[in-house]
Amino acid sequence: MEKEHRKCAQCSNILIGRSDKRFCSEQCRSECHNHKKLQNTSEKKILQVNAILRKNRSILKMASPQGKTTVPRQILELAGFNFTYFTNLYRTNRGNTYYFCYDYGYLLLPEDKILIVNQQAYMAT
Ligand SMILES: [Zn+2]
Repeated sequence: MEKEHRKCAQCSNILIGRSDKRFCSEQCRSECHNHKKLQNTSEKKILQVNAILRKNRSILKMASPQGKTTVPRQILELAGFNFTYFTNLYRTNRGNTYYFCYDYGYLLLPEDKILIVNQQAYMAT
């Protein structure tokens, strides 16, 4: 019966020797390890940003259940709103920029006020 060749988990070279070997060389072993570490870090980052966006959206929704309300910026800050992250921008003809977290968006107004809106069909990007 022909034994199936085991392959290096990193470069797919055929492995010779001990049956518990997973890599053909020390270099492949550490490359694979570093790659996994990097992948885990970026996966974590993606999950973190997703969580922030979700939270932002729920804060906007909570602060403006009808979809159009002006609130002091402080209200959002106290709720833990993160102004660094949004899903998309919408620029109006008049040059205003709305920041969206999914279907809820906001516009920064003078005097630290914020206008919260619900996404309209015409704003679709
Ligand atoms: Zn290898």
